[in-house]
Amino acid sequence: MSEIRTVGVCGAGLMGNGIAQTCAAAGFNVVLMEVAEEPLKRGLASITKSLDKFVEKGKLPQAERDATLARITTTTDVAGMKHCDLVIEAIVENVEIKTKLFQQLDDVLAPHAIICTNTSSLCVIELAAKTKRPNRVAGLHFFNPVPIMKLVEVVKTIATTQDVVDALFAFATKLGKEPILAQDTPGFVVNRLLIPYLLYAIRCLEGGLASKEDIDKGMKLGCGYPMGPFELLDFVGLDTTYYIAEIMFDEFKDPIMAAPPLLKRMVLAGRFGRKSGRGFYDYE
Ligand code: NAD
Repeated sequence: MSEIRTVGVCGAGLMGNGIAQTCAAAGFNVVLMEVAEEPLKRGLASITKSLDKFVEKGKLPQAERDATLARITTTTDVAGMKHCDLVIEAIVENVEIKTKLFQQLDDVLAPHAIICTNTSSLCVIELAAKTKRPNRVAGLHFFNPVPIMKLVEVVKTIATTQDVVDALFAFATKLGKEPILAQDTPGFVVNRLLIPYLLYAIRCLEGGLASKEDIDKGMKLGCGYPMGPFELLDFVGLDTTYYIAEIMFDEFKDPIMAAPPLLKRMVLAGRFGRKSGRGFYDYE
């Protein structure tokens, strides 16, 4: 097993730029890839802003901020990833687009390289099976905001070999994260438990159990959760929650994963939560 030195990150959006920053901050050389220069510029600007915040708060020396940025190079060409030992894909959640990228990566990467997806809802084995190295493909599921959130789910498919899982555990630990092992089923560990909880909170609201404010207060003060379910739904995005619930229900056919009517109607109304200015609460 060769050592992971250079990490490729595909996608410089919300998750990709956080992953790139975290890898570079941990001392890895990072190649950040995008479809065009513009999203790369935006991604780098987000990374710079985030690092500057750490410096302002006295959590990061200026020299380390500079060294972290210097470890990140960019490309708009998959061939630019050819020296990577590990590639983490964090592009749009679309199976056709991801499959195409996986095949391109498979063609340019060295045989020892590992390819991971940060997907929240797709079957990892479906992407792996389209490559010539299904045993070296896994899920590496980070949480938003990546530089802050400690957890990484390492997703083992029915084809992933144990040496790859071990390498990913060691890698996540070097990032300062806490890895856990999950099987390749929708929702992995966290969303498998979280989504039914959030959906049930909506059912309770629909049934008139209590106001959303009181349900949130109850779960915060009664369970010590930092956010109540409706605050969390607005934070995660109602559209994202609905999408993941649909995928989980489709796979397991378990009614606890069925989206309640109110959630569907709020999504249809464009009330996605914080990002659209309105969800269960008003942010305008
Ligand atoms: P995003 O829309 O912010 O970013 C996606 C980026 O991918 C865009 O900048 C786009 O230009 C780029 N892209 C598209 N096709 C590409 C290609 N072929 N090559 C390189 N770049 C390409 O999305 P996001 O929220 O960062 O999500 C990315 C992935 O992470 C998804 O699979 C999502 O399910 C997963 N995820 C998201 C979250 C979250 O909280 N948003 C959490 C965990 C996992």
